[in-house]
Amino acid sequence: MPQFPADKIKTIGIYTSGGDAPGMNAAIRAATRVALFHGLEVRGIVGGYPGMLSNEFMPLTQGSMGNILQRGGTILKTGRLPEFHQADVRAKAVANMRAAGIDALVCIGGDGSFTGAHLLFQEHKFPIVGLPGTIDNDIFGTDFTIGFDTAVNVALEAIDRIRDTAASHDRLFIVEVMGRDSGFIAVDVGVAGGAEEIFFPENSVTVDEAIDHIKRGMARGKKSSILIAAEGRKPGRAYDLAEAIRKKSGFDAKVCILGHIQRGGSPTAADRILASRLGAAAIETLRKGQCDCMVGVSGGQLTTVPFAQALGKKKAVGRELIELARVLSY
Ligand code: ADP
Repeated sequence: MPQFPADKIKTIGIYTSGGDAPGMNAAIRAATRVALFHGLEVRGIVGGYPGMLSNEFMPLTQGSMGNILQRGGTILKTGRLPEFHQADVRAKAVANMRAAGIDALVCIGGDGSFTGAHLLFQEHKFPIVGLPGTIDNDIFGTDFTIGFDTAVNVALEAIDRIRDTAASHDRLFIVEVMGRDSGFIAVDVGVAGGAEEIFFPENSVTVDEAIDHIKRGMARGKKSSILIAAEGRKPGRAYDLAEAIRKKSGFDAKVCILGHIQRGGSPTAADRILASRLGAAAIETLRKGQCDCMVGVSGGQLTTVPFAQALGKKKAVGRELIELARVLSY
């Protein structure tokens, strides 16, 4: 694990970056309160990497952490900065933070944000610990990411509602959930919501197979079905699937795209607890003089994984759950 002299740390900067996720506020709150508990000062960096460039640093206090635990989104705002790929832009960000007295960072975000964080340590020895915050759950090195449980539960509630109308009208629905490169949300929601078929980036269900599946259900008296599709690289792909199914089978599939609804709202208890544990663990990791790493959970236990080991690796959806979904909906 990369090391640095922890006794030099007086002020920690916290930022949220990339896509927002429910539970980010709980993570900010835990990291801030644990840091204050140990006599450190804390600054929030507004909007992530853009805030480092525009010098938007705000003091975070016990008081400013009140009443945020249950709120979705991020009170620090989040943003993207394509220019952060340039070394001179990163150098300017480091100069600004050092001038503001910030000597270590907690980054709450996804793979992209962690890549930027990793470079800040590699190039400038700026100590950073990352917290996995994304609804997609696709970060290698942790079983769960902050926001995933909430997103799954929001999508599940919507699917239960859609099933009521699907059953009343004997309809076929395709529900599109988030998940650009991974099917974690789709598979969890598919199993928990009893979907007939799940389309997600890592599997290769064909339209013909899905039609066979629907017909098999109809043959044993099933009159309505719900298919789940992860958005993949083409949000709105559920419309293409519906059209392909209509062309090949004549079935009229209704489409429901859940979209950003899955990103908002109050975090579940599981996400608040995960975020609180990881927020605290990030500060403890820095206090031990460890950095350039991510804190996560594995088998229920807190873990620390160097960025160098985690970045660029793909976490796979569990085969057991995929097989279970297939058998339960056969
Ligand atoms: P996420 O952290 O959710 O994966 P992004 O991929 O959008 O979100 O990344 C968030 C930000 O992190 C980007 O806007 C950019 O500022 C920074 N970033 C992403 N990739 C890199 C990279 N390869 N080098 C430096 N900075 C990066």
